[in-house]
Amino acid sequence: MKRIAILGSTGSIGTQALNVIRRHRDLFCAEVLCAGSNAQLLVEQALEFDPNTVVIADESKYTQVRDALADTDIKVFAGDRAVADVMEMSTIDMVLSAIVGVAGLLPTLRALENGKAVALANKETMVVGGAIVTATAERNHAPILPVDSEHSAIFQCLVGEASRVDKILLTASGGPFRGRSRDELRNATLEQALHHPNWSMGRKVTIDSATLMNKGLEVIEAKWLFGVDASDIEVLVHPQSVVHSMVQFADGSIKAQLGVPTMETPIQYAFTFPERIESHTPRFDFAAHPSLTFERPDTDTFRCLGLAYEAIARGGNMPCALNAAGEVAVQRFIEGKIGFLGIADHVESALQRTHFIENPTIDDLLLTDQTTRLL
Ligand code: NDP
Repeated sequence: MKRIAILGSTGSIGTQALNVIRRHRDLFCAEVLCAGSNAQLLVEQALEFDPNTVVIADESKYTQVRDALADTDIKVFAGDRAVADVMEMSTIDMVLSAIVGVAGLLPTLRALENGKAVALANKETMVVGGAIVTATAERNHAPILPVDSEHSAIFQCLVGEASRVDKILLTASGGPFRGRSRDELRNATLEQALHHPNWSMGRKVTIDSATLMNKGLEVIEAKWLFGVDASDIEVLVHPQSVVHSMVQFADGSIKAQLGVPTMETPIQYAFTFPERIESHTPRFDFAAHPSLTFERPDTDTFRCLGLAYEAIARGGNMPCALNAAGEVAVQRFIEGKIGFLGIADHVESALQRTHFIENPTIDDLLLTDQTTRLL
């Protein structure tokens, strides 16, 4: 029985992970559930999955959760510090890191420091602290299993390969605005940006998919996860979202991982690696979908992708600044304070004003994150 701690259990990835656990109760149990502020759903999940411990980051919701679980043996904690502290529990076998945003960094690092296997959905952990996170994982012999569908695909392509990677072909759906011009996007609405053609995800990652910032963050994540230069990672727009990504090797051979777009597949694979187990997900029917297409991204219209490549080329704390500026810009777009094209404008301006640090410590990164949010 694998005892899993879910950071972000009330989110899109968290609830899909619980679907996987629900279907395979003989293999997995939810040892810890952590949420941000959705006390009601956290309580419902706790009553169904009977974890050892639940944590709610929003301390004002502590009493609500504690009272609702008063008739159970479930331990209840609250606050950001508690979210990280529970990662030390000896009864956790694996941590699913699925908090949204930079808030996922410290608890994920704590899990790795304690030698836990981490199934990583929270890409911000790698974007912000890639050098420190990978070194911590190595030092503590803590495996990182990618959950992002593209990175899971690359990881699956690399199983059994000892030879050099020539190039990673990272696929992107192109989001809801694929093919649109800058002029057409000037008045793009929040509702349109949230209408992703293939994936049902949290709001932040959905809007990042519409700007292609998500793909930029994924390039940075892939650089750290697979130890390749960003210049050897090519983004290809593939609107059908069936080829989840590909790897080209030194002899020109290309391996790809394909399947219907559902996050339950990469979540389950991260839980069971190196095994594969049965899944109820629909099978892809090639004959019913004979056309799989690929095109280069339009980086003039979707400028966030180019900004991400610039940030990783500069290195140091720049990807951290990129991420913080991106989180702020998306929030402002959601609140109607800036337009869709203003997201890239804000990120570019924040990067220009960031004080560069070549080899940042965790404290430097946290400070960069805070100061960038004020720009
Ligand atoms: P959601 O917004 O749906 O969920 C976010 C989760 O994080 C919620 O459980 C939320 O709790 C919790 N949370 C937010 N802030 C805190 C905090 N300070 N402390 C503890 N928990 C917190 O996001 P997604 O599930 O879509 O995405 C999660 C991560 O996975 C992101 O990094 C995203 O980029 C990545 N990802 C997502 C994919 C998807 O298909 N959704 C695909 C690939 C990667 P609450 O609801 O209680 O506020």
